[in-house]
Amino acid sequence: MTENPGRAIPVRPRGDDDEQVELRRELHRYPDLSNQEGATAARLRGYLERHRPDRIVTGVGGSGLLAVFRGESPGPRIAFRAELDALPIEESLDLEYGSTVPGVSHKCGHDGHMAIVAGLAPILARRRPLRGEVLLLFQPAEETGEGAARVVQAPAFTELAPDRIYALHNLPGFSLGTVVVRRDVFASGSIGLDIRLYGVTSHAAEPERGVSPARAVAKLIETISTIGPPESAPLEDPPGMSTPKSSVPGTLATVIHARVGDPAFGVTPGYGEVLATLRSPDSGELARLTDRIETLARNVAAERGLRVELERTEEFHATTNDPECAEVVRRAAQSLGSEVNVPEQPFRWSEDFGRFTEVGAGVLFGLGSGTDQPALHRPEYDFPDELLALGTSLFLEIVSIELGLPLA
Ligand SMILES: [Zn+2]
Ligand SMILES: [Zn+2]
Repeated sequence: MTENPGRAIPVRPRGDDDEQVELRRELHRYPDLSNQEGATAARLRGYLERHRPDRIVTGVGGSGLLAVFRGESPGPRIAFRAELDALPIEESLDLEYGSTVPGVSHKCGHDGHMAIVAGLAPILARRRPLRGEVLLLFQPAEETGEGAARVVQAPAFTELAPDRIYALHNLPGFSLGTVVVRRDVFASGSIGLDIRLYGVTSHAAEPERGVSPARAVAKLIETISTIGPPESAPLEDPPGMSTPKSSVPGTLATVIHARVGDPAFGVTPGYGEVLATLRSPDSGELARLTDRIETLARNVAAERGLRVELERTEEFHATTNDPECAEVVRRAAQSLGSEVNVPEQPFRWSEDFGRFTEVGAGVLFGLGSGTDQPALHRPEYDFPDELLALGTSLFLEIVSIELGLPLA
């Protein structure tokens, strides 16, 4: 990674910028949780309809929305994707356009991503691509890892399957406007694993009459927590344990929640639960790690005479970029004078865009949202409006490279 100075943002006609900032702020004011994005989709539909796309499809994989802008002659179809959902986080900022929904706010910048993709509509309405088609895609339920998987199965999407699909995610910690792109895996795959252990309660004075999951839960927490970056791994396995290790960098297991019984001093617990998030940039390694931890849980449960239930949830596939699409992004960034940063390793976090790169060529790239920005999913985070025009300009440049655009 390199440190870059902030870039000047390309200038666009003032009218478009105002409209775009207004749209972002309106979306911010009325956030919707994953799988409940109907109102946000309706707002976007209203905006898009004013710019007369050739076609709008609603209800794509849930609340998803698609707008089609046809070029002057036949050619490839390229898509730009944004996410509709906000997060169950109470906004801690005092904004003039602050969230009006208690406990829900846009803390991943999806309001900004939507305004960037929608911002293509007024421009494409005036400047049709020379060939091919542009799809503006707004997908539901990204945060829960469900939306993209449903969209790729949706009849409207399979009918309009794009030849290439592009998306960006704003990245706090990178200087404003820096384009962050990799030619292969960009974001890791991840999976939630819920391990539920059932025993038998007894009086706290007679633990031998029950079957307590306490020691099994302790053993699972200890063992799972040692799978991770080398600096956190123990020098040797704890006595009697064989840790499922991984040699793939970035493979990591994080215990995110655990409990045993209830706060009742008279009772030896009969129930325990360990929840962990497993991740890896390598899909095969993630599958092997998940199998190994499930086997570990079964063995630990059997050792203690417990019944075990295992559930996999919130499964995100790794996002693997297409090298040619990555090159298009690099050229677009270059022609706008944006700094390009190529991280050595894939990011550890997950994005459900991986479902799109599994069914076709695509790229997810990062757009630096400032080194002084709070991290994503923090209550004090807010998408910087300065990035809107740049994001749209980058996408427009991609349209120009892929399909050709008449002069403004
Ligand atoms: Zn997020
Ligand atoms: Zn996000």
